[in-house]
Amino acid sequence: MKNLKSIDRLTEAFSKLPGVGHKSAEKMAYSILEMNDNNVYELSDALKDVKESVHHCKECGAYCENDICEVCSNPDRDKTRIIVVSYPRDIFPFEKLGTYNGVYHVLGGVLSAVNGVGVEDLRINELIEKVNRDSVKELIIATNPTTEGETTALYIAKILENMPVNVTRIAYGLPMGGHLEYTDSLTLLKSLEGRKKI
Ligand SMILES: [Zn+2]
Repeated sequence: MKNLKSIDRLTEAFSKLPGVGHKSAEKMAYSILEMNDNNVYELSDALKDVKESVHHCKECGAYCENDICEVCSNPDRDKTRIIVVSYPRDIFPFEKLGTYNGVYHVLGGVLSAVNGVGVEDLRINELIEKVNRDSVKELIIATNPTTEGETTALYIAKILENMPVNVTRIAYGLPMGGHLEYTDSLTLLKSLEGRKKI
């Protein structure tokens, strides 16, 4: 017997999630079918709500539900020190450390010839404007330690080399090919302490 059309549709939708293959997607589709109605409606509501309520902070590009995120709107945060990350979720591990008092800038990805991501696709111009506007003293580049992350870091360092800003790169502790999102706090703390000028 073949799957029903609506099951196929839901399976197809789930299989678009990262790390979810066809088999798991199909299992999830059947689980939804077997859940009670209220839980399913709650899930469907939450999906819609997250897309409607969450957007990018106008200042740093982080995810937030207001125009400006909590970090950017906090007058106690040091606007002259910026950690530059590729994706909004890369901010959370730094915030979890609880020791960083500067702000962030989300690029929205990494430079990648393979994926056709160029300078104009990232929030690099906004970063340069911010460096000028807020007389930024230090940029800590925290793109992932992958080839593309390195290329992006070097590019930013290069375009800012004649500006009065100290550009550093987190370095020690992070495994090559790894991802910030999955890094434990101690490793991340070491990386932050061991950052070096590029
Ligand atoms: Zn912000």
